[in-house]
Amino acid sequence: MKFDFAYQTRSIPQVIARVLIDGPSELVFDYAIPADLPVVEGCRVRVPIRQKTTSGTVLAVMPPPEQSEFAVRELKSLIDPEPLITPVLLKIARWISNYYGSSLESVIRSILPEAVRTEDNSAKTRRIAIAKENIAVGELAALEKRAPKQYLILTLLLAAENRTLPTTDLGEGSAPSLKSLATKGLITISTEEVRRDPEAAETIVASKPLLLNDQQQEAFDYISKALATMERDGIDDLPGDNPPSDHQKRETAPKPFLLLGVTGSGKTEVYLQSAQATLDLGKTVLVLVPEIALTPQTVRRFKARFSQLNDQVAVLHSNLSQGERFDEWHRIRTGKARIVIGARSAVFAPLPDLGLIIVDEEHESSYKQENPPRYHARDVSVLRAAFEPCVIVLGSATPSLESWQNTLTGKYQVLRLDKRADAHSMPLVRVIDMRLEAQKQKGQVAILSDRLRNALEQRLAKGEQSILFLNRRGFARSLQCHSCGHVCTCPHCAVALTYHRTDERLVCHVCGHQSIVPRKCPECKNPGIALQGYGTQKVEEVLRKVLPEARFARIDADAMRRKNALRDILKNFKSHKIDILIGTQMIAKGLHFPNVTLVGILNADLGLHIPDFRAGERTFQLITQVAGRAGRGELEGEVIVQTFTPHSPSIQFARKHDFDGYAEQEMEMRRQFHFPPFGHCGVLTARSTHERRAEFTLQTLHLRLKERLPEGVTLGEVLPSPLIRSHDQFRFQITLRSHKARPLTNHVQTILQKTTLPEDVTVVFDMDAYNF
Ligand code: ADP
Ligand code: ZN
Repeated sequence: MKFDFAYQTRSIPQVIARVLIDGPSELVFDYAIPADLPVVEGCRVRVPIRQKTTSGTVLAVMPPPEQSEFAVRELKSLIDPEPLITPVLLKIARWISNYYGSSLESVIRSILPEAVRTEDNSAKTRRIAIAKENIAVGELAALEKRAPKQYLILTLLLAAENRTLPTTDLGEGSAPSLKSLATKGLITISTEEVRRDPEAAETIVASKPLLLNDQQQEAFDYISKALATMERDGIDDLPGDNPPSDHQKRETAPKPFLLLGVTGSGKTEVYLQSAQATLDLGKTVLVLVPEIALTPQTVRRFKARFSQLNDQVAVLHSNLSQGERFDEWHRIRTGKARIVIGARSAVFAPLPDLGLIIVDEEHESSYKQENPPRYHARDVSVLRAAFEPCVIVLGSATPSLESWQNTLTGKYQVLRLDKRADAHSMPLVRVIDMRLEAQKQKGQVAILSDRLRNALEQRLAKGEQSILFLNRRGFARSLQCHSCGHVCTCPHCAVALTYHRTDERLVCHVCGHQSIVPRKCPECKNPGIALQGYGTQKVEEVLRKVLPEARFARIDADAMRRKNALRDILKNFKSHKIDILIGTQMIAKGLHFPNVTLVGILNADLGLHIPDFRAGERTFQLITQVAGRAGRGELEGEVIVQTFTPHSPSIQFARKHDFDGYAEQEMEMRRQFHFPPFGHCGVLTARSTHERRAEFTLQTLHLRLKERLPEGVTLGEVLPSPLIRSHDQFRFQITLRSHKARPLTNHVQTILQKTTLPEDVTVVFDMDAYNF
């Protein structure tokens, strides 16, 4: 029989650690902390489980439960000397777990990436040899005669920068010579940490701060004043015999700022100078961008401005190797990297003394994580700012209605930049009615209007560049008449019906209404009603025919498979080796090309009729962002928007660059239907390879959810998901809505915990879902 000492412990421990065991089963156990072990919340530890030793994370350190019948076992050892998770991040982890109904384990996994948890990634080191200063000529000469090998090594070192070389550069079998040289005191040998720098090869040209215009200055003043207030409160904490506790610190962070600046208004310059002000106060900065790969220019601008602090900027992206990620993470944690730029998951970057968080393009849906834990990085940023506390700036030309609503209720403070920074005017936006074009180009799918073709020809003749944007969201899912523009919508809801190929039906994803697929347009009786959609390849094909002498490049997911493809194409576009850039959503963001004077949006309404209450908002955002790529230099810009629904508010307000007008009418719709920001939406999905079982499971859950449904929560019907079959699995879903988030999540979680699911059915819950 095995004998375990821990079971024999009779003395009651002073403190115990509650440990979340690594692994999918989410076990939480209490362990006694050995007297000499400095275990605190967030530490990584080794603990015994049955006869084995495993690893885990300390969630809490506390006195033992009063009447414990069992003596708890002792924790074995600390994996890292210091806690890897800060108290604030631990608090955030708990919040995410509660709010989104994700397991705490999965949140901790996001906070402490795999690369950091595995022990064999630890910092890479190398041995270096350093020659002594001022070695006498006589000494060298003597060495040359007696020990030519040692002499050679020494001369190599003396010729090297800082008289230092890695020992591996000194040739194989140099170890004995090095040892002798060290014994003679001619060299010293030591160990140096090597940073695995992912971007070591990149060259960056330094940039200087620009003189801010009045509106930028005003925005900057607000932000720097908030930073200064935080600083004062920080100092108040310091004196006294007792170290400041979290509670003594300023309890509330300043209000989050929403920097609402039209495209090209110089938001980035405001970010850069605010970041500088934060560094000047000795604090650190976190910058979130929607996707690192799609925002190379924003990253470069940060690097250029802070290039004198070169290795104080850390860029976190998905292409880092495990080793690089480990190094970057620890550079951040130890305060060596003081500016962190990253996408979604960088919200968990372990920055000490965080002073400022910037969330660029805060409206982007890529901030919402689609896999567990399903958090929204913008919302978590706001929370983190409140917990730290620190200043937060959310920036966008087209803020999300969630953030906009927060400015209306006074939770956020809006800062506006409503002119372009270079004093040029906003581009002129023309809307082309493609219904007329379709009549002209009988029978054909109208891709290019005459107007757009002429405009492209003109730019080509003048040596100016153009961007053509193709909206692919909602590709071929809704039915639209090519003659009158009519879209098949649900008679009970303000959404388009979704085409289901499997059973040849149109289905409403809000109320479940179904109808047959019409053979001709219900409105104008034209038989030309069809699923709409064409791809970038088709566009390129058409363009090659009408503009044979132009040079094209295509940016879409297919073309981007090759590594660095995006970077190379953007480079060639910048140096004008390309006349016309054709692309999808990938080119909508943050690009700044002064020679681009024409932007064409080929099918503006393709995203408008998908069964998602955010469809209109997304279309408005997309047109505004894409239009913002035009006329960013000395030359005036023009935007041509092709659409079958020219009078849709999303298109008309975008044409006038009128965010306020758009927000006002869209909010009215949201209010009426209790959609966000006037309530929360959660989606419960069941999937299985057995269609009936997925549906039946969800129906069972539906019944249980219906019993004791908390007040204010509405339960939708069981419906097929828009993507009914994916990866051979059938999917069904229920949409729940509620004014308050917690009752909804709690109710769903409780029911899920009480229900035993069939083995071949997976059920997931997505709170504040973005994709329906
Ligand atoms: P946004 O991020 O709001 O779209 P950018 O930061 O890209 O705008 O600014 C657009 C252009 O204006 C950039 O070329 C930038 O260098 C320039 N710019 C920004 N602020 C100023 C300023 N105060 N004076 C002159 N040019 C500026
Ligand atoms: Zn019609």
